[in-house]
Amino acid sequence: MDATVIAVGDELLIGKTVNNNAAYLSRRLAALGIATRRQLVVGDAEADIAAALDLARALTPLAITTGGLGPTEDDRTLAAVAKHLGLELVLHRPTLKEIERRFARRGVKMPAVNVGQARVPAGSHVLANPLGTAPGIVVEEAGFVLCLLPGVPAEMEYIFEHGLVPFLEKKGYVGERVYEKQLHATGLPESAVAEQLAGVVVPPGVHLAYLPQTAQVDLRIWGAAPNEETFRERAAPIAKTIREALGAHVFGEDGATLEQAVGEALHARGETLALAESCTGGLIAKRVTDVAGASSWFLGGVVPYANEAKVNLSGVAEATLATHGAVSDETAREMAEGARARLGTTYALAVTGVAGPTGGTSEKPVGTVCFALAEEGGTTSERLSFGGGRGWVRLRASQHALDMLRLHLHAKGEKR
Ligand code: ATP
Ligand code: MG
Repeated sequence: MDATVIAVGDELLIGKTVNNNAAYLSRRLAALGIATRRQLVVGDAEADIAAALDLARALTPLAITTGGLGPTEDDRTLAAVAKHLGLELVLHRPTLKEIERRFARRGVKMPAVNVGQARVPAGSHVLANPLGTAPGIVVEEAGFVLCLLPGVPAEMEYIFEHGLVPFLEKKGYVGERVYEKQLHATGLPESAVAEQLAGVVVPPGVHLAYLPQTAQVDLRIWGAAPNEETFRERAAPIAKTIREALGAHVFGEDGATLEQAVGEALHARGETLALAESCTGGLIAKRVTDVAGASSWFLGGVVPYANEAKVNLSGVAEATLATHGAVSDETAREMAEGARARLGTTYALAVTGVAGPTGGTSEKPVGTVCFALAEEGGTTSERLSFGGGRGWVRLRASQHALDMLRLHLHAKGEKR
């Protein structure tokens, strides 16, 4: 089954409202085995809505609109649909009662305009909206199924899930559900991931998509299947092949974050972490404390931003700063060692760099970042150069620091 999604609203066309409803609907339809062939966006004008309906009808047996069902002058979807299909708008008493009850509950007299929201095209199927006044409406006409949903996202989602999905299921429009498995990789750009996976055979019944994120590539294995178990069986061989090809670059599955992976590894080993963050300004601390229960493995961190703070908060020697500069392997190492000594942790990570846009030199251009990882046996450091703006450099730096520790723990785990 194919569908067209039509979003109605002037605010969408001027970019004031982001069309999240279309994304929601298409994503949910895909999961139900219904393919969105087209997403259309039109303003609150009858002629434009009618043109979108023409297009939808020519292309797909199912169309879903969102928006323009409100009680005000600028809500035109209902009138446009009725006119387009040549149907009269008739009063739907249960809906009118429901709207009246809503106003009564709030102790407010129902404005006359709201009666309009209880009018539906003759012969339509009404989907209750307990969150608002405009109900969802399904009109079937000569093999074309048209569903009208309100624009307010919570109402649209509620009616879709509780009204429309059961309706589509009953009609037999729901196909095999689409399932997915994701593998998350970091430390390799998308092109390198693709290179490593060149020649990987995607088994029948599943598909592979590359979704590049910031400093991360998600590999999405997906496909329609009669049930989840069947999908898992189909996806398992390719997931295994990808893991083998990318090795330690794969840090997690199905929405796991890098900071979670680091936390799990530390927790499993009963080890702890401290941070000294200059150019990331606490971003790594923010990320690790996003993980619930982080206090069992993350003890704390410092943000020694200015040189004085590098000395006072993380114990960097003034001579080191004078000789090598704030952005140097030497400073990063002393920052990590100082943070580790002060907090008494198993490991400490330190980051110091030039996030830009100013502060770069020919020797240390914008994007230069030094990393250090300190532990009892010694300290390692790395110097990298990132492209992109300030935000991008900081995000990449936080990712690299976390991954440095994760890979280190991984290598230690292999040795045990
Ligand atoms: P109501 O019956 O509650 O008035 P409606 O069907 O008339 O709803 P609109 O007036 O078009 O819907 O939109 C109401 C609000 O819902 C908008 O202000 C906007 O914030 C949000 N909205 C509308 N369309 C979309 C969309 N396509 N994606 C995301 N949000 C939307
Ligand atoms: Mg409205």
